[in-house]
Amino acid sequence: MGRIDVMMDDELERAFREKVAKRFGMKKGSMSLALEEAIREWLKSEEGGKGPEVEKAKTPLEHLEEAPPPSLQFAEEIIRASGENINKCIQCGNCVASCPSGRITAYNSRRIIRKASMGYKEEVLRSIELWLCTTCYTCVERCPRKIDVVNAILTMRNMAVENGWMLDPHKMVSINLIKTGHAVPIDQVTRERRKDLGLSELPPTVHQYEGALLDVQQILKETGFCGLIERAQPQKAASA
Ligand code: SF4
Ligand code: SF4
Repeated sequence: MGRIDVMMDDELERAFREKVAKRFGMKKGSMSLALEEAIREWLKSEEGGKGPEVEKAKTPLEHLEEAPPPSLQFAEEIIRASGENINKCIQCGNCVASCPSGRITAYNSRRIIRKASMGYKEEVLRSIELWLCTTCYTCVERCPRKIDVVNAILTMRNMAVENGWMLDPHKMVSINLIKTGHAVPIDQVTRERRKDLGLSELPPTVHQYEGALLDVQQILKETGFCGLIERAQPQKAASA
């Protein structure tokens, strides 16, 4: 799902809201429905009335019908791998209410836990939101059921990568690690800065010791990390 934030004239906004309320009611999602329709019509008029190749938004029921069938073992896999019994979740929403990431993104830890419990494996593992937790641990402090949400989320991320789903930026960082031994390798600016400060141009890490870099690369290969990164596909935008 894409997201557009727009600023508009107060009067126009008021008139638009009134119209939306009249036609779709005051329920959640009405504004999005009306905006989608307006954008679709505008795109159509720009194309001389023919309409561009924009797929019509699916209804929740259509989404459900097309979703892969739930995997009854998914929750058990998470519980086994993380030690966190996500089935204890009572959906109170404390985790979301205190989540700094959820405040500014579509990330919703409660919803991910719920979908995982219900077995929506592919939907959860392929979702972009899975990668938006900052691991600040605030939710862990607040969960009345003592579920370590972070542990569960990190376990699901591991499962996503094992299935070949990984966000591009993470893949790039991983490739850096394989090539240079650093997730963020030294750049020219830092080299110059180090020299200005009277330090060696390269820090005493794998940057300076080629043999150590070969060791790191060997470890990454032997542990299967290189294989995981090679298999990882570009992640498609999907919401959990
Ligand atoms: S650890 Fe993740 S899910 Fe929990 S509050 Fe922080 S960002 Fe949100
Ligand atoms: S705070 Fe704990 S029990 Fe409440 S919704 Fe989040 S994970 Fe579930």
